[in-house]
This record gives sequence, structure tokens and C-alpha cells, in this order.
Amino acid sequence: MRWGGPLATLAAALAVAVASCTPTAPPPAPTPVPPETPAAPSPAPSPSPPPSPSPDTAPSAAPEAQGPAEPWIRLGLAVGAPGVGISGPLGLRVTDPAGASLAVIPAGEVWRVTIGGTGLVARAPGGASTTPSATLEITSPSPGAFVQVNGRPYRGAITALRDRAGVTVVDRLPMESYLVGVVSAEMGRRSLVEQEALRAQAIVSRTFALRNLRRWQAQGFDLYATVADQVYGGAGSETPEGREAVAATRGRILTYGGAPIDAFFYSTCGGRTADGPEVFRAATRPYLRSAADVAEDGTAYCSVSPRFRWHEEWSGEALRATLQRTLPALPGAAAGSAAGDVSEVRDVRVSSRTPSGRVGQLTIGLPRGDVHVEGPQVRRVLRPLSGELLRSNVFTLTVSGSGHRVSRLAADGAGAGHGVGFCQWGAVGRARTGQGHARILAAYYPGAVLERLY
Ligand SMILES: [Zn+2]
Repeated sequence: MRWGGPLATLAAALAVAVASCTPTAPPPAPTPVPPETPAAPSPAPSPSPPPSPSPDTAPSAAPEAQGPAEPWIRLGLAVGAPGVGISGPLGLRVTDPAGASLAVIPAGEVWRVTIGGTGLVARAPGGASTTPSATLEITSPSPGAFVQVNGRPYRGAITALRDRAGVTVVDRLPMESYLVGVVSAEMGRRSLVEQEALRAQAIVSRTFALRNLRRWQAQGFDLYATVADQVYGGAGSETPEGREAVAATRGRILTYGGAPIDAFFYSTCGGRTADGPEVFRAATRPYLRSAADVAEDGTAYCSVSPRFRWHEEWSGEALRATLQRTLPALPGAAAGSAAGDVSEVRDVRVSSRTPSGRVGQLTIGLPRGDVHVEGPQVRRVLRPLSGELLRSNVFTLTVSGSGHRVSRLAADGAGAGHGVGFCQWGAVGRARTGQGHARILAAYYPGAVLERLY
């Protein structure tokens, strides 16, 4: 580990980030972030054992003598909710932001936080409610106990804020405790030989969180707890493997030029990762460049993924109905006026490919002319019947038709996600061949430096 130069800068930056949890902090500099979500390699198949209380719970607003302290993070669990149920196995305290007690909720009793008066109220099962407050602080009387939100347990403290549409629910907790919930939810249950992949994911997720602290500051939190940022399942999703991976990599992040990198990640690259700018216009980072994700024997490391290869198809009618929905939703005039008439689909073809082989432009023939869909929009337009995004931009098309009408479209594809940066299933494949987390990370973020921040 290096402790000079860039790290000193980093430590100072982190101290600012930690101190700036106060409302008077200046707004953050905009940070490029992935608009799309990583997908978990596999869902956690079984409930995890009861998690042990987090040992590191002391907040700190200033760096300690030997380096910066562990930062805290605020997760948006809900935004605009009409109401939310809260309970605690040891009961809960409800206070206003100044610390004045508003209610004491008995153990096991579920109260409901809803809009009331000019703010929010917490309502008992019997109907009695607290005086309204714009913000409610909800804590357990014991630091180790959870707060249940709609039945799901969370570590740390819960804040309910009145927003324009309803209730915003925020979970505030130490970074490392948060990461256990992320790594467990992102990677699911994994075997011992795959542990280095989880350690790599822990470093990626820590770097992502630090880089994007205060991303949603205007809404009162740092990151969403969903695929919009990275999936955080709370205490209920924690696994022993996730806990070990976070503890073994405590405080370690990836940097470039002394700053945390943009740690893009996704499920499965399909055999070759993408260059940053292929997917995100501004992502011209030296450490985000296309590389083969393939072992010496020619096997793709992410061939262990259930989404390594996929197939989708649409009947002529399903294709027409899909495009009728998705083309008008394209941002701006991307689709042009021709997209106004989707009464008939005459052709769909790949009109350009990116250097890594992904679809760079899709051209759709419609009655009023061709519509060109650029690479980053393709997965939103050519949606499967499920309505979700198309799995990746790595595909070939087979078109069947009679006359000037497409009667069937088939896509044969590879991978899941945007393909920039860390390939989660590739990391699993690499761990199985004995690669350590440092080597795995170097493969997906070439030139980035692994450093210990706290
Ligand atoms: Zn891969």
C-alpha cells in the first residue's frame, strides 16, 4: 500500500466528504455514473443466518490521526411512498431532528409513517399519532438491533422525510456495514473457491459508493438501494461470504490519479468488455477499455454465467406493439418523425457495430422511413416481451418476413449488462481458476491502483 502523494489527497477529499454530511455543505461536483444496473449473477437462494451486530458503529466527522475514519452512507430505501410500516424487535424511538421525543414504539408493534398535517406523522395501530414533523428520526434503543421497514430489517438509523409525493425513507449506517448488504445481494451465495470474486466486488462497490457519495443529495441521501445505483438488501440479505469479503478488504478502493475510479460493473460481458465511450459518452477513462475476458484455452471466464448466451424472439405483431411503446419514449428527437407511424415494421437491421462488437446502431424500417437507434438506446427499444431491457448489445438478428412486413424477429445474444468495467460472472470464473482479487481487478480496470483508504 502506498500512503504518500495521491493517498494524502484522497484522505483530504474523504475528510471533506465525511464532514459534509451537515446540511450546510456545498453541493457536490457532478459525477459520471452508470445509468444502468448491475445484475446479480444469481439471486440468493436461501435466507441467510441471523446477522451479528456490526462492531463498527461509531460515527466520526473528522479523520483520525492515522488516516481518515470510515465514512457513513445514506441509502434511499423509498421515495414518494404513500406510507411505510416501521417496527423493531426491541421497540423504536421516534424523535424530531432536534432530538425531541415524539413517540416510543413498543417491541414488535408496527406503526405507520404517513403524511400528516404539514409534515409526517407516525401512527399507532390504535390510530393515535405523533405531532407532525417534516423529518422523523427512527432508531432502535440498542445500537445492535435492527429497524424493520415494511418488515425488512436494516442496520443503523432510519430517517423519514416528507417529499413532494409522499415519504422518503433513508437508512444511515457505516460504509462497511452497508457493503456487506451490497456484496451479499449483488453476488448471492457463492462457494469458497469463488471468494476472491466477492472480495473484488467488495472493492468495486466500496469504490463506487465513495465516488458517488452525495449523488442524490437534493433528495436527502447518497445512493439508491436499488439497481439504480447498486443493490442493497439490508441486514436480511447478508451472507457469511459477503461479510468475509468486506472484512478482508476493509477500506480498500481503486484509484487513478489519486481519486476513486468510476467503478462501472455489470453481470456478464459475453467474452469481451466494452470501451467506456461505447456506452457512456463521457466515460473516456484510461482504465475503462475493451479487453478480451478469455482464458488461455479460449474459454470466456464469464461462460459460467446463466446469461452467457441468450435468445429472444418477437412475432411481427409483438414487435410492432413493442416499438409502438418504446420508440416514443426515446429521449429528444432521437427517433425522428418517422417513428410516429409504427403501423407496420418493414425491416430491422444492425447498421453499425462498436470496436468491441456490440451493436452501435440499429435501423428500423417504418412506413415513413428509417429510424436510427443509437447503441446506448438499443436495449430500451428492442425490449423482450417481459418489458425489461434487452440483456445486452451483443447480438445478431434474424429477420423473417413476407413482402415488406417483418413477421418474425429473432436475436441471438451474449452477456448481460453494458459491458464497461468489472464483469461479475467473469470474476467468478477467474476466482475458480485461482486468480486473486487484485489480479481480477487489474484485468477489468487496467492501470487502476489498489489502495487502502482507511
Ligand atoms: Zn466477462
